[in-house]
Amino acid sequence: MAKLRILEFPDPRLRKKAAAVEVVDDAMRQLIDDMFETMYDAPGIGLAATQVDVHQRLLVADVSVDKDNPWVLINPVILEQDGVEVSEEGCLSVPGYYEEVQRAEHIRVRYLDRHGKEVESEFEGLLAVCVQHEMDHLDGKLFVDYLSEAKRQRIRKRLEKDRRQKQSEPAVVL
Ligand code: ZN
Repeated sequence: MAKLRILEFPDPRLRKKAAAVEVVDDAMRQLIDDMFETMYDAPGIGLAATQVDVHQRLLVADVSVDKDNPWVLINPVILEQDGVEVSEEGCLSVPGYYEEVQRAEHIRVRYLDRHGKEVESEFEGLLAVCVQHEMDHLDGKLFVDYLSEAKRQRIRKRLEKDRRQKQSEPAVVL
């Protein structure tokens, strides 16, 4: 398994729209395993392939406390949604920022599992929010897009500044 690099806002690659997965083969399952390793290590509760610069419609999630309930959704499509849930969201691609976002409370989704089998599942609460957040990534959308332009620009500037500071720190001090 290998840990993958997570792209960070405002990287333009996060804006790419992912293409449908054509075949679920061993290479795809390797990518899935690497995405889980990356997500658990971060740590996060969801990760879309877009975030690791793979532009295919695939996401992983695990909102359980013991990290023992992994979900893999390939080519997910929301069939039904209802209710309203407002929760504070964060994102591994927007580190350090948490803002309230409104989502559907309950969704029914059709997708392929890690064996390429078509299945339908119902999600609610945190897992529903997580799946909607990750599905946005596959369309090049980020949770900061739900905020005001001014707020989004503030976050972008802060993240760019943080990164510049990190880069300018000398690796070895003599
Ligand atoms: Zn995210």
